[in-house]
Order: sequence, then C-alpha cells, then structure tokens
Amino acid sequence: MVLRDFFIGLSQNELLNSAAKRYGLKLGAQSVVAGTNIPEVIESIRELNAHGISCTVDNLGEFVNSREEATEAKNQILELIDAIHESGVDAHISLKPSQLGLDIDREFCHDNLREIVARAYEYNMHINIDMEDYARLQPSFDLLEALSQDYNNVGTVIQAYFFRAEEDIKKFKDYRLRIVKGAYKEPAEVAYQDKADIDQNFIQLIEYHLLNGKFTSIATHDHNVINHVKQFVKNNNIPNEKFEFQMLYGFRKDLQLELAREGYNFTTYVPFGNDWYGYFMRRLAERPQNLNLVVKQVFNK
Ligand code: FAD
Repeated sequence: MVLRDFFIGLSQNELLNSAAKRYGLKLGAQSVVAGTNIPEVIESIRELNAHGISCTVDNLGEFVNSREEATEAKNQILELIDAIHESGVDAHISLKPSQLGLDIDREFCHDNLREIVARAYEYNMHINIDMEDYARLQPSFDLLEALSQDYNNVGTVIQAYFFRAEEDIKKFKDYRLRIVKGAYKEPAEVAYQDKADIDQNFIQLIEYHLLNGKFTSIATHDHNVINHVKQFVKNNNIPNEKFEFQMLYGFRKDLQLELAREGYNFTTYVPFGNDWYGYFMRRLAERPQNLNLVVKQVFNK
C-alpha cells in the first residue's frame, strides 16, 4: 500500500512529467509503451493483429492545462484515426477527457471530443472514453450521454472500486463498456479500499454486463478473474461475440496470446507517445514487481 501511494504520488507530479517528456522513452517504459510516433505504433498494431489480437490505441497525454495543448492532442488523435483507417489495421481509440480540455472548459472538451467521435464514426471505428479519477467521473459520463444522442460508436469504463459503479453500470447497460478494477487513489468516502471488496464488485459488475449489457470488455491481468469469466460465459451460453478480454501492452504477453489462440476476442491497450510518465507510474503503483521491467531494460542495453 505504501509503495502504491508512492507511485501514485509520482504519477501526479507535473514537474517530473515534463522532465520525462523531454528525455524520450526511459526507465523501462519502452516495454509498456509502443513507440513515440504514429508509424511506430501502426507497426506494433500490425504485429499484434498478426496474432489475432485487436488493439485500442491511446495517444498518451496528461496535465493538459491550455487550450493549445488540448487542440494539439485532438489533432494528433484525428491524425491517428486517419492513419488507422488508411493502413487498414484492426484498432480503435482510447482517450482521456482531461487530454481534450475537460479541466479547462467542459464545452470546449465536448466540442473536441465530438470532432473525434464524428471522424471515427465515418470509419465505423469505436471510441472509448477512458475513466480517470473521481472528480472527472460524472463529467465524463455527461460527455458520453451528450455524444451518444448522435453517435453509437462511443463507450466508456466502469471502475469497480467505486461504490456507485453498480448504479452506473445499470444506467449504461446499453453501451459497450470496459470494466476494470480502477487505477487511481480514491478516498474511502467514494471507493472500496480493500482488494477483496474490489475484486468481488469487479466480478459482480462483469457478470451483470455479460448478462444484460451490449458488449463487455473485461480488462484485467488477473488470471483468477479471467478463469471465472471463462466458466461463467460457458455456464450461461454467452457467445464470444458479446465480450472480449483486454490487457495492457507489454503485460502477460503469453497469456494474451493464449487467450487469442483459444478463440476469445482479445484487445490489447496500446499506449504510445512522449507523455508516458504518468501512465508508467500508475502501472508501477498497481504492481511494484513491474519494476522488473525497468531492471531488465537497463541490463538489456
Ligand atoms: P491486479 O489486481 O493488479 O492483479 C491481480 C493478480 O493478477 C495479481 O495478484 C497477480 O497474481 C496477477 N497479475 C497481475 N498482473 C500481472 C502480471 N503483469 N504478471 C503476472 N501476474 C499478474 N483503470 C482506470 O482507472 N481507468 C481506465 O480507463 C482503465 N483502463 C484500463 C484498460 C485496460 C485494457 C486494462 C488492462 C486496465 C485498465 N485500467 C484502467 C487499470 C485497472 O483499473 C487496474 O488498475 C489494472 O488493470 C490492475 O488490475 P488487474 O485487474 O490487472 O489485476
């Protein structure tokens, strides 16, 4: 827990974030971030596609404080959408509202996001609104609801550590949803703190959406949850077209390949870009053993 708080603290350090951006991919982040530019990430997607794995691509970006930065992020995502379409790879987009100006002006963020969703809609491409911390939860759901009045290619994430997750999943059952445990540090007033409680809620939410929802992305590296889901879909005759497993790029690669080989839909979350620092620190917070990646990277040089 102490290490988790330490790395979450580091992930929120804006000064370290901007220093990291200047020095390119370092500290072992290369193994969990698929390159720094669009041609590199398209190549990484192609390799995963060759193994029957689809991708959701995140053009990394955090601490966006100005309209210029948010507009630049929007333009990069539009460029990425065009590149995915033109190259014909099997991929869709994951993005964070804060990157598009949520903390600056909600209307401005909505307009940026709308432009992205509209472009992707032309190509029949899905847009996933990643969920950030609690302060941004309701504003992100509001964006989803506003956009889904005109577009059906947008979905979001339900974080199992929140007490309100059960209510949210019922409300948004007609959406394509990714279900996760939750990656941020949240207070006891709004979120379960105990791993066992989070895991239990995670399973309940997954089962609910598998039975009642549109399409379920089960995003976890937890083999116990994955095995439970395999058994649950079998017992309830839930067809493979109704769900997929998702994992992050660079984690449990053998298990990713195995699930795809077994015939399950599988999507890898592929982050890329210079702004890798916060993402990488959250991964270390989840599993300090991920520091092994750093050590391996240093010694492989
Ligand atoms: P953990 O609870 O971290 O691990 C459970 C057990 O699984 C461990 O005890 C270990 O036995 C095993 N295990 C885990 N990792 C490994 C490994 N690398 N190697 C070997 N064994 C391992 N969070 C958000 O808040 N918002 C989002 O939008 C979001 N999107 C996500 C998208 C994807 C595709 C994924 C995979 C995660 C996302 N997350 C998001 C992060 C998520 O909330 C969790 O913080 C993160 O996935 C860690 O939880 P876990 O379910 O993987 O398992």
